[in-house]
Amino acid sequence: MALKITDECINCDVCEPVCPNHAIAQGPVIYEIDPALCTECVGHFDKPQCQLVCPVNCIPLDPDHAETREQLMDKYRRLMTLDTGGSR
Ligand code: SF4
Ligand code: SF4
Repeated sequence: MALKITDECINCDVCEPVCPNHAIAQGPVIYEIDPALCTECVGHFDKPQCQLVCPVNCIPLDPDHAETREQLMDKYRRLMTLDTGGSR
């Protein structure tokens, strides 16, 4: 399940650099998470890094993007393959 940023976001900018998948970007109003890139940090860390650093706790799981841990691992592997130019 990807995470999402709610409108409580104060645009503090601390979550963007900690995302290992570059899934977080400034949107038109607040920061946004691309569900195609978010793996809940599966493959990189035990816990979602953005949730750990957000000072206002505005990054819950997004029930609209339900995924199993296996699916998240598959996504992680696909993203890593893209990162390495498709050599794996
Ligand atoms: Fe990025 Fe991890 Fe947060 Fe998803 S949970 S947006 S992969 S830091
Ligand atoms: Fe918004 Fe939280 Fe990210 Fe700060 S850390 S930009 S408040 S989502």
